[in-house]
Amino acid sequence: MHRPSFATAITLAVTIAFHIGVAVTRVHGEDPALVLPAGIEQITEERVTGTIAFLASDELGGRGTGTPEFEIAAAYVAARFRGAGLEGGGGADGTFFHETIATQTRLPAAGKLTASDGAPIAHWGLLAVGDELQSFDGPIQSIALETWRDGPPPNTDPKDNVLALGPIVRGSLTTEAKGSRAMSQLARVANHLQAEGVKLLLLDAEPGSEWVRQSELLRSRPRVTAGSGIPIPVVLMAPATKISDSISAEVPGLLREERAMRNVIGILRGGDADKASEAIVFSAHLDHLGSNPNLEGDKIYNGADDDASGVTAVLTLADAFAAMPQKPARSLIFMTFWGEESGLLGSKEYVERPTWPLDKIVANVNIEMIGRPEGGARGKIWMTGWRESDLGGIMRESASRWGTEIFEHPKFSSMLYRASDNWSFVQRGVVAHSFSAGSLHGDYHQPDDEWDRLEIPHMTRVIRGLMLGSLPLIDGTATPKQKNK
Ligand SMILES: [Zn+2]
Repeated sequence: MHRPSFATAITLAVTIAFHIGVAVTRVHGEDPALVLPAGIEQITEERVTGTIAFLASDELGGRGTGTPEFEIAAAYVAARFRGAGLEGGGGADGTFFHETIATQTRLPAAGKLTASDGAPIAHWGLLAVGDELQSFDGPIQSIALETWRDGPPPNTDPKDNVLALGPIVRGSLTTEAKGSRAMSQLARVANHLQAEGVKLLLLDAEPGSEWVRQSELLRSRPRVTAGSGIPIPVVLMAPATKISDSISAEVPGLLREERAMRNVIGILRGGDADKASEAIVFSAHLDHLGSNPNLEGDKIYNGADDDASGVTAVLTLADAFAAMPQKPARSLIFMTFWGEESGLLGSKEYVERPTWPLDKIVANVNIEMIGRPEGGARGKIWMTGWRESDLGGIMRESASRWGTEIFEHPKFSSMLYRASDNWSFVQRGVVAHSFSAGSLHGDYHQPDDEWDRLEIPHMTRVIRGLMLGSLPLIDGTATPKQKNK
């Protein structure tokens, strides 16, 4: 009873495949009648290459959320969905775009610092500001910021009396960390200072230091993330700049801009009257980190593996499923997200305003980083959150019939369950997992995540494996359940 509709589909597939002249591959195994499902011939190395070489091209500038290049990528995805014959699934009017107006913020270039005699005081720029323009007046107190990493330092020396801190302090903080890690170190210190009454931090920084680089980045690249977590304005000073007494400082607020952000959604409606209301969502995030004009050399974070590889899978799976001669019983929804790298924002927006009832989404197969196999794991797939539902077991059983392995990664399966867009669905009670086929390699989130470093044959096998693993989901013979629920 387990596979009747499936067997019918296979028979039909074979018949049609022979008619249209497509070679049907027979696999050595226990079941001599086992053939690959029709439609899978759409997933070829050539198509995979053609898709990812565009998505991860320098011309798409790293697909930063909110950039014009991201919009080109989104238009491309919509065009591909349209070309595969999918219906638009973004809203009531049949659009492919699920649109949200989001606020992007950017740091202003500089503040205004004035000495007590009215002379301007030079500074590098700003590293953190408030929501509105703020003004400060008063003497500057030099403190050893290094001793504030874990909270106020022990109050041993009267001249370090923390209770006597004024509203404006100055100091330096070294860090070996980069990017958001460095910023969170500074945020910790700034939070401790704020708790002691400090309102403005003048941070000494050398040119080329991480603080100056971050300041330039936050000024040049708009972001949709909530903020840096730094609660007080931070002005970057050249250590050599002497200030003898009081200053006046004006620090402008964050620059804000409203912008439309778009998930792209296509639907292949199910062929079974009873099951077409149930859907399987295949998804990946379209955004990556954009580019950084301050980098030496290559300035573009192409995000080939992360996650142009997943988007390529979604697009080629759409081609393959849409080409099946017998429509899948359940509806299939293909989806790409904005803002994953900024905190799963696009998928959070989707589950907030879903275009398909969430309790009718049977499973979310989210695809992340499938282009670079780990040693020994070529052609194999692992699923995050393996123990949270029985989806992995269902897909493993199906894919293994054709010799593709889907497994629980001993380290990453539990570590990364909450790290991608599947998590937004899990929080609304949907069985949702990410499927990956590699690891956090050295080029992860680096400009060298280029498509010519991917193994296209491996990636193609993985996409085919995902199709094969999904067969009991799409034909409605299996319904995964969350465990402990
Ligand atoms: Zn990713």
